[in-house]
Amino acid sequence: MKRIIIIGGGISGLSAGIFARKNGFESVILEKNPGLGGECTGWDRQVYHIDGCIHWLVGTKAGTPIHDLWVTTGALDGVEIFHPESFLAFEHEGVTVHLYRDLDRLRASWLELSPQDKDAIEDFYQTTRKLQSYETPVEKPEDLMTFMQRIRLMISLKDAGTVMQKYGRISLKDYASTFKHPALQATLSSFLPENYSASFLFFALAAFTKGQASIPCGGSRALAMRMVERYLSLGGSIETQCEAVELTIDHKKVHQVICNNGKIFEADYVIAACDAHLLYERLLKGKYPDHDFQKRYSNPEDYPLASQILVALGYEGTFGDLPRSLSFPVTPFNMHQSTISRLTITHYRHEPSFAPEGCTLITCSINQFHKDYDAWDSLARDSEAYNREKERIGKAVLQSIETRFPWMKGKLKILDVATPKTYERYCNACRGAFMSFLPTVRGKMMAHTGRIKGLDNLFLTGQWLQPPGGLPVAVITGKDTIMRICKQEKKPFISS
Ligand SMILES: Cc1cc2nc3c(=O)[nH]c(=O)nc-3n(C[C@H](O)[C@H](O)[C@H](O)COP(=O)(O)OP(=O)(O)OC[C@H]3O[C@@H](n4cnc5c(N)ncnc54)[C@H](O)[C@@H]3O)c2cc1C
Repeated sequence: MKRIIIIGGGISGLSAGIFARKNGFESVILEKNPGLGGECTGWDRQVYHIDGCIHWLVGTKAGTPIHDLWVTTGALDGVEIFHPESFLAFEHEGVTVHLYRDLDRLRASWLELSPQDKDAIEDFYQTTRKLQSYETPVEKPEDLMTFMQRIRLMISLKDAGTVMQKYGRISLKDYASTFKHPALQATLSSFLPENYSASFLFFALAAFTKGQASIPCGGSRALAMRMVERYLSLGGSIETQCEAVELTIDHKKVHQVICNNGKIFEADYVIAACDAHLLYERLLKGKYPDHDFQKRYSNPEDYPLASQILVALGYEGTFGDLPRSLSFPVTPFNMHQSTISRLTITHYRHEPSFAPEGCTLITCSINQFHKDYDAWDSLARDSEAYNREKERIGKAVLQSIETRFPWMKGKLKILDVATPKTYERYCNACRGAFMSFLPTVRGKMMAHTGRIKGLDNLFLTGQWLQPPGGLPVAVITGKDTIMRICKQEKKPFISS
């Protein structure tokens, strides 16, 4: 039986491991952390459970190919789905704009707010409705398709292509300016930074409004643990606290993976289900460069990487009918070179087990980009200064929430503050990135096969193969990589 060594036990590594076992390979996952799941995780603090990942998971709609894949890997097998009433509620100068899941309700509420935006709202509605026909392609990666299969794929992506053509090169800022009402403008342009492509907004909302991007009950860590169980039940093995630090390469093949705990693993195939930059620069020592990745790493303007600060708070109380995610203006506070004048908080009322009885978990995410990461990176060289800054930001967030919700005063406590350095430390994530390169108007989409030029048995997999990444890309690419190995071994791929 041929042996596949998988570096990384995130969602892509687990998916690769599950399909490796289904296809008759011996499989060993090497994970640097004590637990698996990678960025899809959660952690416990002061009797609260902090969910560190899923705000929306593409694949929650039963009967669709991506949902079937999640079920096959155990992630959504028999799992209840929570469908939030809205994606986000956005407060602006006394007005609240709701991104409702019910698209007709969304349209009606926007029309009521701004009848003068009738045409723009109708276009927004029609575009989102049309894009609901889009389903994430799951069956096969393009490089394994026949000519006819590619044609069929292109036909099935017709609506998505139309939206990409119309909005792919329009920035969110320019798109938002087609609306007249300042609250609608502010809501739409806040979705991502201003020079990002408007198309992302439509893909996200089309999936959400058809129930395809909701939240699995139990949260991120539980989802990853179900995949671990599925993998183990298929006979896969796992080595934790086992960080791959070197590859033995000879005659265009990786023969061994050497780990920081002294263990050495012989391999017929190696799958790097970890950060791409780590693979090219640290494990391959820059000797097998890849043009597509180099182009992106050297141009952060067009190919930005986003990280975040996550402030988790415990609230001694329960929420009424406050929207699950709410964005509101705050008294500005400084952070590095930027000013924070708005926060978005999410509460976990739907997950009572994340908090002690009568209490609720709240999280607040603040996006961080290139310059922010650099500031955190230099701050982290002085651990006291770094911790002081985390504490200061935690307090600023807490006070901002108390100001917005005076009844919460004295009932909030800071549970944890994670920074871009946290994600870098925990997952070896390049610049603390929580996804791969985000779509901007000038950036080009990339679909990478994961093959490493000059090496026959090493494959990259995971979120870096199909920017902007995310959990669906991780689960799909893990499977796709095993399909490529099956092809190389000239054996049929078993998918179920
Ligand atoms: C805060 C946050 C919120 C997010 N929200 C969402 C969301 O709502 N919806 C969504 O779809 N996606 C979301 N994502 C993105 C999603 O979590 C990732 O795209 C996905 O988990 C990536 O999976 P992966 O397997 O490709 O990589 P990773 O999760 O990065 O897994 C890589 C694994 O490899 C391990 N590793 C690294 N180096 C080594 C080494 N040398 N040796 C051994 N092990 C190693 C790491 O510890 C890690 O476990 C979010 C991410 C974050 C951080």
